Amino acid sequence: MVGSGFGDERLASRPLPARDRLPATDMKVLLDAGHGGTKPGAIGPSGIHEKDLNAQIVKFLEMACQRHGWRTNLSRLHDQTVRNRDRAIHANQWGANVFVSVHCNAAENVMVQGHEVLHWHTSVKGALLANAISEALATQFPARPARPSKPREEGDRGATVLSRTSMPAVIVECGFISNSFEEGWLASFPAQAAIAWAISQGVERTFPEPDGDIPW
Ligand SMILES: [Zn+2]
Repeated sequence: MVGSGFGDERLASRPLPARDRLPATDMKVLLDAGHGGTKPGAIGPSGIHEKDLNAQIVKFLEMACQRHGWRTNLSRLHDQTVRNRDRAIHANQWGANVFVSVHCNAAENVMVQGHEVLHWHTSVKGALLANAISEALATQFPARPARPSKPREEGDRGATVLSRTSMPAVIVECGFISNSFEEGWLASFPAQAAIAWAISQGVERTFPEPDGDIPW
């Protein structure tokens, strides 16, 4: 789906010069596994719950972030119900530099495939982060359909965590659990690890400066 309006060259992701980077050990990434507990999220044709895929991908993402030397914190450690606004409060109180929420998509059209990264519509930094993660996923999986990142507004799915977090925030919809092929793919550990590594590469390209600003 097109219409994000972020094809502007100024918003194309690019690596930051090393001098502008926050020391890796000061980088704090809040990892949010979508849904959980009594809220399974979407359910795939073979019965796989989105909440479980999200948690598995977040575990790989935690390892990927730690390989970059970053500090990580998870908004849920177990299969527990967490309100979306509490996920945002958690990130704000911890002082995260980046908020990454991991989800899997669903559509009535079971043929739809591909990743999709969402950001808050007024957040330029969120858009930069979303574009960088989108590009990293497209590079990692060139055979899969590439979707542009998408802005979210009040009332949209994902609005709560994106609008209430005080740092650049994205929701990564890793693929469509409603598609039989992608349901199986999303449930495989090699795919989960590769998705996680690509997301971390996107974050790496949008490192904030020590004052939290991205210098462009
Ligand atoms: Zn979800």
